[in-house]
Amino acid sequence: MKTAHMDPSAGQNWSCHSCGECCRNHLLITVSPEEKQRIEQQNWTAADGVNPLGLIVSGLGRHRLGHQVDGACVFLDSSARCRIHSKFGEAAKPLACRLYPLVIHPAGNEWKVGLRFSCPSATDNRGRPLAEQGAALQKLAKEVLPEGWKQSPPPPVAEASGLGWPDFLRFTRWLDHTLAAPEIPVSLKLVQALDWLNRVERGCLDQIAGEGAEEILDALVASAAEKTTGLPADIEKPSPIGRLFLRLLVLEHARSVTVADQDVRSASRWKTLAAAFRLARSRGRTPALREGLKRVEFADIEKPFGPIPPGAEALLTRYFRVKVQSLHFCGRAFHGRPLIEGFRNLALLYPVILWLARWLAVSDGRSALSESDVVRAVRLADHSYSYSPYMSWRTRLLHQRNDIVRLCRWYAQ
Ligand code: SF4
Repeated sequence: MKTAHMDPSAGQNWSCHSCGECCRNHLLITVSPEEKQRIEQQNWTAADGVNPLGLIVSGLGRHRLGHQVDGACVFLDSSARCRIHSKFGEAAKPLACRLYPLVIHPAGNEWKVGLRFSCPSATDNRGRPLAEQGAALQKLAKEVLPEGWKQSPPPPVAEASGLGWPDFLRFTRWLDHTLAAPEIPVSLKLVQALDWLNRVERGCLDQIAGEGAEEILDALVASAAEKTTGLPADIEKPSPIGRLFLRLLVLEHARSVTVADQDVRSASRWKTLAAAFRLARSRGRTPALREGLKRVEFADIEKPFGPIPPGAEALLTRYFRVKVQSLHFCGRAFHGRPLIEGFRNLALLYPVILWLARWLAVSDGRSALSESDVVRAVRLADHSYSYSPYMSWRTRLLHQRNDIVRLCRWYAQ
């Protein structure tokens, strides 16, 4: 098996620091029949601090780990440790728990590895460089990759399939190149990437292959960089529809989604509906959504916030580069969508993150962003990225109205 490709240039580190966040905030941890059997054979009793009858929930031929009343994993103990890990070692845990927050995606003869930034160690870039963890990743990849993974074709770049992996990966390399540009704000790099992808689509260049493709993409990327050298002094305001969808996307990414929240009897379902109504209306005050996101005036979030702190720019660059390098934005990693559409949707996370960061700042009585607001916003936004239902038409509509570009620019100021 060819080793993972994790470009060390993104500078991503990660090791688990046992904070227990993932065990508190995840909705469904699916277990295989073998894992179910293994857990049952571990003979858990009430003396271990668990309800032995609520360890696994089964239905429709599938099994998942049970939850405590607050939504935390049934095996999480009061010191944020996994009871299976403490008693039987890491290898005894279900694969989903051993894998998180890593993501592994096939790419022809190799595979790509990325991270969920809902893990605090990933956002804080703490631990060993990911590019140096080949042996452990290799072991996980053997368990994760589906049979026949080398035969899976890449997703289309635009609409039509046809490219082989090497030609498809050329597009992601150029995307990463655009995002890696030093000392350029992330909003501008996203706008440049969106610009040259539009030209690929409009010029029907999604099937370009071989050496000639390298030259064409080089020229398109250079021209996008020349054309978009800074944020215009007079930034075009996003349309009311663009801003409405942005606020609903914020809700989609920031609401709490534990099993406790999904219970039909749970007050939080009604709270989410009420929050959707308030966010859609955007008059007066926001709803109080969760810890840190208080009731504040919409107008205070919508005021210009000034420049984004340099540390936050660095985090956002790393975030978008890891997503692109690991293909965590298109194909099998993102609802089977083509590269260009997947990237447009990924770019929408930029205004989502900044809107959330502003909401956190205003909730804290401030009118300028701190680096920590953006860190917290990235964690929230990435939590449900690629899990929550995706509406392809919404991304297309926002693109047709040029609202993706307008939103990226508007919330960068
Ligand atoms: S959230 Fe990250 S650091 Fe915390 S326990 Fe889970 S994997 Fe480890």
